[in-house]
Amino acid sequence: MISKMKLAALGAAAAITLSACGGGDGVADVDPGDFPEGSTMARLADAGEITIGTKFDQPLFGLLAPNGVPEGFDVAIATIIAGELGIPPENITWVETVSANREPFITGGQVDMVVATYTINDTRKELISFAGPYYNAGQAMMVLADNDSVNVPEDMSGLSVCSVEGSTPAEYVRTNIPDANLVLFGAYTDCLEPLRNGQVDVLTTDNVILAGYVDESDGAFKIAGEPFTEEPYGIGVTRTDTEFRNWINDVLEKIYEDGRWLEAWNSTAGTVLPEASPPAVDRYEVG
Ligand code: GLU
Repeated sequence: MISKMKLAALGAAAAITLSACGGGDGVADVDPGDFPEGSTMARLADAGEITIGTKFDQPLFGLLAPNGVPEGFDVAIATIIAGELGIPPENITWVETVSANREPFITGGQVDMVVATYTINDTRKELISFAGPYYNAGQAMMVLADNDSVNVPEDMSGLSVCSVEGSTPAEYVRTNIPDANLVLFGAYTDCLEPLRNGQVDVLTTDNVILAGYVDESDGAFKIAGEPFTEEPYGIGVTRTDTEFRNWINDVLEKIYEDGRWLEAWNSTAGTVLPEASPPAVDRYEVG
C-alpha cells in the first residue's frame, strides 16, 4: 500500500494568488512572523508545508480517494488547521497512520500531527499530547444484518470479535470480555471480509467508523445495540509542544464559532451520520 503521497503542485499559481489575498480557499493570509519565534507554527508556516497522519481506510473520516488524496471529517479538520498556518491543501503530505503507529509516528517525528479517529486517553497522554476533543464517538459493534443475537457488549462473550492492534476498542474487549476470541488486524478494513464470510462474528470499534462500513455494505452489515464507551477524538502532537497544542485548540474554538466545523461535518461524515455539535476543548495540564 502506498503510505505517503502528495498532490502535484497542480494549479499552484492559482493557489498562491488566492492565499496572497487570504482568498476563498480557506487558506489564511499569514506570515511566519505572525507566530511566536521558534514555535512549531512559525516553523510550519515558514516551510509552507505540513505532514499529517490520518486513516486511509475509514469512510466518512479518512478514506483514500481515487485521486490519491484522503477525504473525510478528519481530513477536513486537518486541512482547516493547515490553512490557518497559510498552508494550502496541495502542500499537505498525507501519511497513513493505522491505530498502532500513531504515537510512534508523532514521537519519531514522521508526522507533524495526527488526526485519525484518535481517542484522547491517559495512557496515550504519557507519550503524546492531544488538542481537542473535536468530536465525541463511542465504541459499538457491527454484525451481519440478519444477526439478532448481539445487543450488549457482554454478548461478545464466546464469540470471535475482530478489531485492530493498538486501538481502544481492542483494549476494551481484552479487559472487559476476556472470554471473547479477539482477532486483531492492522486496520479495520481487514475485518470486513472475515465478518462477511462468518470467520468472525463481530467487528468492534467506534460507532462512526462502523457507520461508514454499514453505509458501504449494501445491506450486508448493521450496527448492533448502542455505543457503550466514550471516545473523544483529539489531534495528536508532540507531548511537550504545549504552544502548538494551545494554538490548535484556539483554531478549534474559532471554527466551532464561525461555522467551519459544522460545514466540515456536513460535507463529510454528516452526509451519513446525524447532525452533530462540537464538544468543548479540554486544555489539560501535561503532568
Ligand atoms: N478511537 C479509537 C482509538 O483511537 C478507535 C478507532 C481507531 O482505532 O482509530 O483507538
